[in-house]
Amino acid sequence: KKILFSGIQPSGVFTIGNYFGALKNWVELQDEYNCYYCVVDLHAITVPQVPKDLRQNSKNALAMLLACGLDPKKATIYYQSHVSGHAELAWILNCFSYMGELSRMTQFKDKSRKQGENIRVGLYDYPVLMAADILLYQADLVPVGQDQKQHLELTRDIAQRFNNTFSPTFTIPEPYIPKAGARVMSLQEPEKKMSKSDENINAFVSMTDHKDTIIKKFKRAVTDSEAEVRYDEENKRGISNLMEIYSVATNKSYEEIEREFQGKGYGDFKLAVGESVANLLEPIQREYTKLLNEKGYMEEILKESTEVARRVSNKTLSKVKKKVGFVSF
Ligand code: ATP
Ligand code: MG
Repeated sequence: KKILFSGIQPSGVFTIGNYFGALKNWVELQDEYNCYYCVVDLHAITVPQVPKDLRQNSKNALAMLLACGLDPKKATIYYQSHVSGHAELAWILNCFSYMGELSRMTQFKDKSRKQGENIRVGLYDYPVLMAADILLYQADLVPVGQDQKQHLELTRDIAQRFNNTFSPTFTIPEPYIPKAGARVMSLQEPEKKMSKSDENINAFVSMTDHKDTIIKKFKRAVTDSEAEVRYDEENKRGISNLMEIYSVATNKSYEEIEREFQGKGYGDFKLAVGESVANLLEPIQREYTKLLNEKGYMEEILKESTEVARRVSNKTLSKVKKKVGFVSF
């Protein structure tokens, strides 16, 4: 079986962007591949976090992964900070990465703007830690959204450089482009992607939002001054985004959606989108609440998975340490 790695930050409550762009596919992939799914808490602290919120978000994240259908019997699911190899390998890879290539990363440019004068080194170094995540498990495939493509490209460069400097050590990972991978945009600024760490809570729909909230957020979604439900990514970004969401939530094609709302206003359409999303989330939310109330269950799951992740990552790490010239007894 091919090895697949993917991660998600506990930097807030997961959004429907995370679900349609990542989690939904993760569930499908766990049957076909040897999957490592990691809650990347080390990545989350590259931007300021309140410790008690981070802890709660991390627990919630695990519950949500399971509620979405990830199965610990099929996939290895764990917290990044519980496997020290991630940080160790990241340090070593830092010594094989260039300032120039990190400076070109668009996520860094976007996120560092919010940090003012004192931009954290960790935020700058985020892509190297991500490279370590992937290379530790010798991953063949990495399912990534558009927003992470550049980072994966860098991972490949760093791996290649290390392999060329010494000898083949890392598998060079390929991006995994899912058949139905959605890119969900912000409901308030449809030229920006939807992000769980957006300060504007109307910009995203959380996986845990109540039906009324979901409908309200869609009602407020920014669209355009026309009144026609038509897919046009260039000129009708807001409506096109809502159509994409409706399409992945209901499996209807854009043509079907256009037909369905012909002659109807945006109000009807937005309500339908909101209802479809709320219906889809309802069983997930029920399972999520159940899991969070089952004391001890999640810890039990973690124990085994974390052991697997430690064992596999240590194999790579020992090889790497030997190659760079560290003493081993
Ligand atoms: P943050 O704002 O803290 O960066 P995020 O919402 O971008 O949070 P990440 O944890 O960075 O979420 O990414 C987790 C996964 O979700 C990645 O695979 C990423 O490609 C995917 N993803 C994130 N946002 C979207 C989106 N709007 N549409 C589709 N996929 C997305
Ligand atoms: Mg992100």
